[in-house]
Amino acid sequence: MDIEELGEFGLIEQIKESFKCRDHLLAIGIGDDTAALNVPGDKATLITTDLLLEGVHFDLELNSAYYLGKKSLSVNLSDIAAMGGTPRYFLLSLGIPRRYPVESLREFFRGLKELSLNYRVKLIGGDTSASTGKLMISVTVLGEAPRGQVVRRTGAEVGDQIFVTGTLGDSLLGLYILRNGINPTRSLRKLPRVVRKHLDPQPRIKEGKLIAGKGLATAMIDLSDGLLADLGHLTRDVGLGAKLWREKLPLSNYYRRNILSFEQDKWKLALTGGEDYELLFTVSRAKVKQLRHLSSRFDCRLTRIGEVVEGSEDITVVDKNDKPCKINYLTGYDHFRARFAS
Ligand code: ADP
Ligand code: MG
Repeated sequence: MDIEELGEFGLIEQIKESFKCRDHLLAIGIGDDTAALNVPGDKATLITTDLLLEGVHFDLELNSAYYLGKKSLSVNLSDIAAMGGTPRYFLLSLGIPRRYPVESLREFFRGLKELSLNYRVKLIGGDTSASTGKLMISVTVLGEAPRGQVVRRTGAEVGDQIFVTGTLGDSLLGLYILRNGINPTRSLRKLPRVVRKHLDPQPRIKEGKLIAGKGLATAMIDLSDGLLADLGHLTRDVGLGAKLWREKLPLSNYYRRNILSFEQDKWKLALTGGEDYELLFTVSRAKVKQLRHLSSRFDCRLTRIGEVVEGSEDITVVDKNDKPCKINYLTGYDHFRARFAS
């Protein structure tokens, strides 16, 4: 069988099965936004890693080394945010083509340093090698959270309300605009907001910690693969369904004004666009008021977009009259199928 047939998630499932283990320190293994170790004391250590490959995750022509440096760390911080944790340390492994310009490397490290200072994460190690092909970046982040506060992907219950931070679909719209020929080396302030969102996503560490600290979320994930795909991990994966209120999906003003130049269906990117790195989480009805109150301390908006329903394992998107909408596009990115998987 080809890996194409197995797919990214099939492969991860097989790895998970054959390396299944029990360990007295291991609280969360393969399958969530981070792993968690219950080291002696009252904290869990959170560990996550992401691989960024030239030609797969980024194009050097469409990105600047500076933003690449920032993003290679921020996407990992987003996974720590999704557990409600605080990032502390990171490791950096690089595979660098022999002809890669030193100036670009400097810019890469300038971006990386800036982000690491902003979030107070310290570089503690890594590995460096020449690459015969493309640029390869792997970042591993260690974080921590009080043991009782770690928020997992599993835990949603029927009736829970679904919330999302920030706005949806901007990152992919930003990439479309970059592909249309906007120069990413222009100063950040001059780039359209959605392009900024694509190049320089803001991991929602502060919001994740506030939500987890008050014990408000029953389940949480960060949006890397698109709303429908990632919501599936909170509901379908635990045998539940979800209802999404289409008209409530938070869209940025820029998105509203420009989306129809790129897509016939105004909602498509909000439902399926990847790399928004917002937090998606479920909250019991009884705690919604408390969450609303807490959200006055967020740096971004917070929107209720739907609810968890009985175990149909399906996600239904409804319009303002509560009528199901036809969704005839596929919903998540699979690396080996190299297309959107249903
Ligand atoms: P995310 O989008 O949050 O980075 P992924 O979909 O990449 O999450 O991964 C889902 C889960 O599978 C995570 O727990 C991750 O650690 C695990 N995983 C992914 N690839 C591998 C691998 N090659 N070996 C072991 N575990 C893996
Ligand atoms: Mg994640």
